[in-house]
Amino acid sequence: MTEVPVDAVPCRLCATLVARDATVCPSCGAKEPWVPDEPSINPRVIRLAMWGGGIVLVGLLLFVSGLMMFGPRAEEGERDHRPPGTASEVHGSR
Ligand SMILES: [Zn+2]
Repeated sequence: MTEVPVDAVPCRLCATLVARDATVCPSCGAKEPWVPDEPSINPRVIRLAMWGGGIVLVGLLLFVSGLMMFGPRAEEGERDHRPPGTASEVHGSR
């Protein structure tokens, strides 16, 4: 793990980390070692985020549909499994 300054960007020619305000790469001498117009990592990050969001959405949908499928049943089961105390109470009150 190498500590990289936040303001440093890899040179487009030699991939050496260059300060953002540097106009010439100190390693290979290339002018404007970083390309300001071309975002180097943003599209990938955005695509990854979109994929992640889609996967999370699908997972959520599956989860919710599973809840819808098994929710009422589970509730009924819970009611069935409850000790007869509450049931008798309800019976007695009526
Ligand atoms: Zn360079």
